[in-house]
Parts: sequence; C-alpha cells; structure tokens
Amino acid sequence: MARESKSDVLVLGAGVVGVATAYWLARAGKAVTVIDRLPGPGLDTSFANGGQVAVSHAEPWAGPRAPLKVLSWLMKGDSPLLFRPRLDPRQWWWLAQWLIECWPARNRRNTVEMLRLALHSQARLAEIRAREGLEYHGTRRGILNFYRDRSEFEAACAVNQVLEQNGIGREILDEAGVVEREPALADISGGLAGGLVTLGDESGDAHVFTRALAERATALGVEFRYGQEVVGLESDAGARRVTSVRVKDLASGRYSAATAGDYVVALAAYSPALLQPLGIWLNLYPAKGYSLTVQVEDPVAAPAMPITDERHKLVYARFGDRLRCAGTAELVGFDRDLDARRVDMVKRIARATFPRAGDYDRAQAWAGLRPATPSNLPYVGRTRLENLWLNTGHGTLGWTLAPGNGKLVADAIAEVREFLARV
Ligand SMILES: Cc1cc2nc3c(=O)[nH]c(=O)nc-3n(C[C@H](O)[C@H](O)[C@H](O)COP(=O)(O)OP(=O)(O)OC[C@H]3O[C@@H](n4cnc5c(N)ncnc54)[C@H](O)[C@@H]3O)c2cc1C
Repeated sequence: MARESKSDVLVLGAGVVGVATAYWLARAGKAVTVIDRLPGPGLDTSFANGGQVAVSHAEPWAGPRAPLKVLSWLMKGDSPLLFRPRLDPRQWWWLAQWLIECWPARNRRNTVEMLRLALHSQARLAEIRAREGLEYHGTRRGILNFYRDRSEFEAACAVNQVLEQNGIGREILDEAGVVEREPALADISGGLAGGLVTLGDESGDAHVFTRALAERATALGVEFRYGQEVVGLESDAGARRVTSVRVKDLASGRYSAATAGDYVVALAAYSPALLQPLGIWLNLYPAKGYSLTVQVEDPVAAPAMPITDERHKLVYARFGDRLRCAGTAELVGFDRDLDARRVDMVKRIARATFPRAGDYDRAQAWAGLRPATPSNLPYVGRTRLENLWLNTGHGTLGWTLAPGNGKLVADAIAEVREFLARV
C-alpha cells in the first residue's frame, strides 16, 4: 500500500462541516488535506437541504411533547415522520436514548446548548462573509415560523421565554401580521393561528456556500482529494493515536495510506462505522429527509422570507429564482431512495401553501441522510485517541452549526498543539 505525504491535519469529509473545519484550520496556519469519496464539496447531505441558518430551530426534536406527537404521527400515512423498525440494534439504541432526551430537564439543557452553538456559528458565518465576500443566495431578514394550530402556537410562545433569556429576539405575530410579513402566505390566510419571527436568523444555499468556501480554502493552501473513499483508520498498538487512514481511490481501485498529525472525522452518518473498530461508539443514526427545488414562476407568490410550516415540519427558503422546500424525517437506515409517496406528500403540502409559486410537477426532488443524534447535539471535540477529533452528528442543523463548530475544532487543535510544543 502506497504511503502519501504528511499534512498537519487530515479532514475526512468535504460536506459543509468538513470544509468549514478545513477553512479555519488553514486560517490558523495549518497544512490541511481534505478527503471525500464524492467528486466535489457539499454533494451529500449538504447538497439540497432546507437552507435555513436557524437559531430558531435550536429546540431539539426530543422534547416533552414529542413522544405523544410522534405516536399520533405514526397512525397517519402523511405524517412528517416515518419509522420502519429494523433488526438493527443501533436503531433501537438511538430510539431509547431519544426517549430519555425528551425528559423536560434534558430538553431544556439541550436547547440552551444548541442555542449557544447556533449563536456562535451565526457570528462565525458573519465573519466569513465579511472577510471572503461569499455569495450563496443568503438572506438576513429573520425566519418566520407559522402555526396552523392554536395549541402549538401557544406552546411555541412559551419556548420563546427560553430564547429571550438567551438574548434572542422574536416577534409574535397574529394571522394578519403573518400575512403582512410574508404576503405569499395570503392563499392560506384563514387557516393560521399565528407566527413567530426570529430576527437574527438567516438562510442560504448550503451547497453554493460549501463550494465557495472550499475555493477560498484551496486559495489558503488546503488540498482537496476527491473520489477517495476512507475505508479504515489505523491506530498504534495501544490505540492511543491514529497512525494513518486507509483510502481507496475510486477511479483506479488502488489503496493508499494517508497520514497527518491530527485527524478530524466529519463523515456525517457514516462516521460511526469507521470509528467503531477504534472502540469509539457514537449514537448517531441517519434521519432521512426530502427536499424539492422549484423554479419560481411568479416571484410574488413565492415566499421571499425563509419560512417554517410548524404543522407539517416543512421549511422553505428562496434562492433567487428557485424555491426550496424541505422536511420529513424517516428512520429507515441508510436507504436514500426517493419514495414517490413521500415526494408527492411534500409536493402536495407545498402546492397547497404556495399554489402559484411555480410548477411543482417539474420540481427537482432530493433525499439526504441527516446525521442525527438523539439529543440533536453534535459530537465536537477530541476523542480518547489523542490526535483524533470529531466534528459530526449535526442532524437537523448542520448548515447552521458548521461555521462555528469548524472554528471550535480548529481552535482546539491549534491550542493543544501549541501547548504540547511548549512543554
Ligand atoms: C431534508 C433536509 C433538510 C435540512 N435542512 C437544514 C436546514 O434548513 N438548516 C440546517 O442547518 N441544516 C439542515 N439540514 C441538515 C444539514 O444538511 C446537515 O446537518 C449537514 O449537511 C451535515 O453536514 P456534514 O458536512 O456533516 O455532512 P455531509 O454534507 O454529508 O458531508 C459528509 C461528507 O463525508 C463524505 N463521506 C462519507 N463517508 C465517506 C467515506 N467513507 N469516505 C470518504 N468520504 C466519505 C460524504 O461524501 C460527504 O461529502 C437538513 C438536512 C436534510 C436531509
């Protein structure tokens, strides 16, 4: 097996999380190589997501009201959640831990922690934008969550207090206020209980951002190696350090070993399988979601603001003349097929909400696997192997958290190496 030149840091995975990590590492002066099996950056889960950079979605799925809600959803064919039980202990382990995370105290703690990460990340995104001048169809006019059910709306207003205590401004709107803020919702007025606008929230095309940031990282000296599949991580005899990564070149079928001082795993839902042989168990399971991208035909009838439909758990974001609609969660393992019934369900709801926005029959459908943890909190930081770092498990909020968590990991690596160089 060929052995290749050594970088300071090898980042595994060129999604939005891996690319952001590589970017910050390069800015800290590190020699960085990024490896991904796909032919470019941001082509997997970061490709066609909901586009929301959303502190307002900090509250995890696992909450006190969630188990009953999930039970009611399981009875319906068109619910946002689909669960196919499998003979897979990981799926059951995930579900058991998810139930524990629904406990009110856990939910509160997780919400606050997510809020802090999301706020930190929004600030880092602003810093990147100011320095690099990236264009990614970004909007910064807040996100509007609208509610069709009064009880859901009232419960959300209560969560508002937690957000306010953490310095997040929200506006509460009645039905008229919702339509005034986003006139494209006029077609469903009469069926709205109210809405909340989270003022600092943003949106943007995560794939366009990832590609642009990868270009800037390349200019800073980062080497991107695409079409290379990571097939294993090797450690020393005492499993104290990673010594190399086994890589398969997908074009030639040849294997090689890549080495570095530090290794960052940013492989999303595929992280656990590669870490398990090192004795690292991550409770991370794929939560499949769908999106539709519609060519906008009537700009006034398509929302200009990023929007969340809380009943259907669907998000909308406008990228110029395209409207993205995304949502649903399916615990169906690594199956990423486009299930026509689920695509039709999303199409039907989107069409009923914004009937004149575009031709939904010509929309581009996509499915991705969110790397979901039961608490929704990602794995960020060092493992018990002293040069192995994690930046994975960002679930529903990877686009929101990537700029900040990339910086957290890059700073931590730089600090540890500086400290060790001094002692
Ligand atoms: C329908 C949907 C809607 C969403 N909406 C939003 C939203 O509105 N806002 C938000 O913040 N988040 C949203 N998300 C979540 C967000 O998209 C993810 O959390 C984020 O993309 C994860 O980024 P990542 O870099 O960890 O993973 P990825 O983008 O999947 O990157 C991981 C990379 O690892 C590579 N890889 C995996 N295994 C190997 C291997 N063995 N060898 C080499 N390379 C490998 C893959 O090719 C991939 O490029 C949504 C997700 C979905 C599915």
